[in-house]
Amino acid sequence: MKRNDTGSTEIEFLHRLARELDVSRFFRIAAEGLADRLGADGAALLLREEHDKLRYRFFHGVPTPHGSLGGRCFNDSLGVAGAALHARKPIFVADYAASPYAMPEFVQAGLKASLCSPVMAQGEVLAILAISWFHAPQRLPDDAAIRFIGIVSDFVGSALHRHRTEQRLLDLATHDPLTGAANRNLFFDRLEHAMTTALRRERLTGVITFDIDNFKIINDKLGHLMGDALLVEVKNRVLDLIRASDTLSRLGGDEFALILEGVRYYDDIEIVIERIRQALRIRWGPATLQIAVSISLGYTVYPIDDSKGQALLHNADTAMYEAKRAGGNRAVLFAYAMARAATHKGDLIVEFGKALGQGEMVLHFQPIVSIATGEIVSAEALIRWRHPTRGLLAPPQFMAALEHAYNSLKLDAWVIGEALKILARWQGKGIFKTLHINLSASSVENHQFCEILEGMLATTPSPVDPHYLGIELVEWSTIQDIESARALIIGCRTLGISVALDDFGTGYASLQHLRSLPIDSIKIDRTFIAGLAEDPADRVLVQSMINAAQAFGIEAVAEGIETGEQKQILMAMGCTRGQGYLFARPMPEDELWPDASEPH
Ligand code: C2E
Ligand code: MG
Ligand code: MG
Repeated sequence: MKRNDTGSTEIEFLHRLARELDVSRFFRIAAEGLADRLGADGAALLLREEHDKLRYRFFHGVPTPHGSLGGRCFNDSLGVAGAALHARKPIFVADYAASPYAMPEFVQAGLKASLCSPVMAQGEVLAILAISWFHAPQRLPDDAAIRFIGIVSDFVGSALHRHRTEQRLLDLATHDPLTGAANRNLFFDRLEHAMTTALRRERLTGVITFDIDNFKIINDKLGHLMGDALLVEVKNRVLDLIRASDTLSRLGGDEFALILEGVRYYDDIEIVIERIRQALRIRWGPATLQIAVSISLGYTVYPIDDSKGQALLHNADTAMYEAKRAGGNRAVLFAYAMARAATHKGDLIVEFGKALGQGEMVLHFQPIVSIATGEIVSAEALIRWRHPTRGLLAPPQFMAALEHAYNSLKLDAWVIGEALKILARWQGKGIFKTLHINLSASSVENHQFCEILEGMLATTPSPVDPHYLGIELVEWSTIQDIESARALIIGCRTLGISVALDDFGTGYASLQHLRSLPIDSIKIDRTFIAGLAEDPADRVLVQSMINAAQAFGIEAVAEGIETGEQKQILMAMGCTRGQGYLFARPMPEDELWPDASEPH
């Protein structure tokens, strides 16, 4: 920005600032404009934090070797910034190293001159705007320049103030103002998320509601203020007992709801519930008038109870009223879930074991094709339960429930045994295509898994060529226990079996995995494919997964291709293998190779 007599460039600059709503973009414009106006190198915004701290939040235009100063935190009595804060006016230091404010790390970083201006809103200093020179300033800021900085600081102050107000409004929209716990909106948002991850990760979600047994008496006898204070105490005590990923919500009055996410074992839910019940057996009120507090809880466990959203909460509520009817100070599991859970805790082992023996478990097959020609290159085995009363069940409907009570290894062993029989059948008919099977997380953690696999290969009634067996490991399970995963992958490959990382891209450490694990292929998770046509972000992600796979000599298979448009985009991206309803749905074995009598 050049100085000119009318100051019109400055006014234009201020107009730009006034129009910018995004705080970080706003600050970039301010920093660049100021540094330019003063012949400085850059500017930073130091936000005032609790405990007398100033923290570098926004940092612009400073030469890169000094970039590491960003994010640092200083005591607010230090440096030029501290001086400006306490003086509540701009302070300019022309020779930083020789000034009384010099801080060694900045001298070392090469700071030559500094100008700090307090950023105020409603009489309070919210931040410090710091302008830095890493070369000797060619001209010193005159009075007009300092005044100008004061104006810009006021703009920054209004922007920060606006930002904080917006944050508070957002907080109000998602939290209960009295206790600060999540409100109903946020609760359902989190519940939706918890249910999706529960299915993906084969975990359970506990949905719990509870209220205070004699809250009305407490309010009447101790007054509303003490009643309100008890609600806050309840929130604090419960928060101490749950993980950061769990959600505590106040739905209204003295009714709370809790989501326990990603639970592995059913019993863990009951353990947390019992702790909460105990932690809230307190006496409340002044020493002379103490009232005993207790709570009633109702709960249900997804997906053992496979109701959705509102219905889950309703089920937990039904159980809570049951707890109240029975006299309070207890926890009751929702009846339907209770019936199912009883099965899961004991009988299911028998039921599932029988299901395996009685042929209720079957494998369906979905072709993996060459995207360009549609030709089948291999197939994936997907388990189905032909349940006598509930019909044909897909894994999301029963796998998570099995995980906690039933050793998934048994299931995996059954699948491998079946796969070997099937491969022997195919190879007998001259069909030499790879069959992929899915392994559960427990197999990844099992150190004897490769030995078991080797034993099964050696003793199978009709020998098969193991090069046509492929295993799929869910990516997140390999992240959880990377060393076991590596040992398993190496073991399988030694046996001639290929290894794919399934649901790739959902595990957060994804691309890193391609380098560190010796796998043959990745299966790009279908959630990314679903968004290909509409979402540019998904396109960028999918393209980078394909590129990375190519760079490491690994095959990329796109999962869940449903439309011709997705297929075209994938082809243009250089992806050659795919799977999805567009080509074929999972089907019984006899439909997969209709011409099985013909050698392939
Ligand atoms: P996965 O290994 O990622 O399998 C692909 C899933 O996507 C299958 O669901 C398949 O039916 C579905 N799918 C395929 N094409 C499309 C499509 O175009 N659109 C949509 N929306 N879905 C498509 P399925 O059979 O319900 O299996 C779910 C998951 O359960 C599997 O995900 C796998 O992780 C697990 N699983 C399946 N069979 C077994 C098994 O035998 N053992 C173990 N441990 N896990 C299994
Ligand atoms: Mg799979
Ligand atoms: Mg998958």
